[in-house]
Amino acid sequence: MSTVLTEPTATKVPIKQTKILIDNKWVPSVSGKTFETINPATGEVLANVAEADAADVDLAVRAARKAFHSKAPWRRMSAAERGKLLNRLADLIEQNIEELATLESLDNGKPRHVARAADLPLVIACYRYYAGWADKIQGKTIPISGDYFCYTRHEPVGVVGQIIPWNFPLLMQAWKLAPALACGNTVVLKVAEQTPLSALRVGELILEAGFPEGVVNILPGYGPTAGGAIARNMDIDKVAFTGSTEVGHLIMKAAAETNLKRVTLELGGKSPNIIFADADMEQAVEGSHFALFFNQGQCCCAGSRTFVEEKIYDEFVERSTERAKQRRVGDPLDKKTEQGPQVDSDQFNKVLSYVEAGKQDGARLMCGGERVGDRGYFVAPTVFADVKDDMKIAQEEIFGPVMSIMKFKDVDDLVERANKTIYGLAAAVWTRDIGKAHHIANNVRAGTVWINCFDVFDAAAPFGGFKQSGIGRELGEYGLQQYSEIKTVTVKL
Ligand code: NAP
Ligand code: MG
Repeated sequence: MSTVLTEPTATKVPIKQTKILIDNKWVPSVSGKTFETINPATGEVLANVAEADAADVDLAVRAARKAFHSKAPWRRMSAAERGKLLNRLADLIEQNIEELATLESLDNGKPRHVARAADLPLVIACYRYYAGWADKIQGKTIPISGDYFCYTRHEPVGVVGQIIPWNFPLLMQAWKLAPALACGNTVVLKVAEQTPLSALRVGELILEAGFPEGVVNILPGYGPTAGGAIARNMDIDKVAFTGSTEVGHLIMKAAAETNLKRVTLELGGKSPNIIFADADMEQAVEGSHFALFFNQGQCCCAGSRTFVEEKIYDEFVERSTERAKQRRVGDPLDKKTEQGPQVDSDQFNKVLSYVEAGKQDGARLMCGGERVGDRGYFVAPTVFADVKDDMKIAQEEIFGPVMSIMKFKDVDDLVERANKTIYGLAAAVWTRDIGKAHHIANNVRAGTVWINCFDVFDAAAPFGGFKQSGIGRELGEYGLQQYSEIKTVTVKL
């Protein structure tokens, strides 16, 4: 049985920033209100953070609009200079990597060594990747009919509102800020209420890097208030959101009811992870374990529907259960820990309620299903076998360490089942047969397909969803399109 290895430690890291960043100044909220952010491993309060609301959003939008003025330093700056600032920010994050990894772990609960080895390198790479793009964003000359010279300009959209979740706080901040800034936009970013601290520390590094006033504004606060104010603001030109599909609907509705701001969404998933009988068993078991349990199961693209071919089903279930039982749950600051706590009590309770639903619906509980320890929000790695397509745990996003294993026999039937969901974020297939692998890759309706691997991310490779998993793509060259307006200029010769 997995247990808490060591008592979660109540570590004190110097928390340097808890205010709101507007116009390059750290300010309290207009209301003077603050909220607590906690360490989910211990329940202790880490800090009281300024609570931004509509009035603060208004001030931030005003600062961002001023910074977007054609005569403002940011707009007069060369594209190459923008790239240099992004590179400087990447360097500063790298110089402070140990502190940021600790902060990320304390506020979110993810193992510190994972934040240090996975999240932060991806963060730094993302800023550097888009720094490189800044002076390579260009239009075309187009041979239209008649005596005309026609060309396009790729201009920034303007003031961009961004709302990010708590599962990868620093990485989601990078995915949002880096392309927006490379394209020359100004930003009002709301960070998740559960995990504001690391993003605010990066705010300090943004000032240190030398970004002009008002270009990046960072607001900690709640979704319905500060987030809602961004979605409804009449002077925000575009909103980029990552989080639940439910809130994605609200964001789009708010944009439709106000100024038709551009909307990009990166939402939930219920990604099929398909294991054929000819797969390398060991690789498939370990890869599927990682696909589901990584980041405490709190990944939008988690391989949360594990489809296993009938011939190897029993062996796969047995080996996956053994692996889950071995998973080391405990203190996020311990190097041996594989799994920390869920991010807060809401998520903790939600995950346990799905475990109950799985049992009620008749899925076979192989291991886990209960709390670990008596404080913090730790959930034992859980495996359900014999899960049926219509069970709640097979349809809804659990966002926790709960694996649902299902059996399949026929490939065509499997593709249909894999696609029978409102989501379409990611999929994976494990097989030694290249034909089968590409058949799945071509027929599954998902924005990303991994073959014999999972969760391989790179700043250069686009990511986003089909269907209700989102609108638009982040990362790569495709990510730039979401932060540019195309202007067509035609000259009579
Ligand atoms: P969420 O409510 O969608 O939160 C994501 C972000 O949106 C947060 O910054 C949140 O603010 C903000 N927000 C919430 N309501 C809003 C509103 N009415 N208008 C504007 N912004 C709003 O997600 P959650 O409550 O943290 O988690 C619920 C479920 O969403 C999870 O169990 C999981 O299934 C899914 N989720 C998906 C992702 C993903 O990467 N796709 C990430 C997180 C969660 P505050 O939280 O700060 O109040
Ligand atoms: Mg926290």
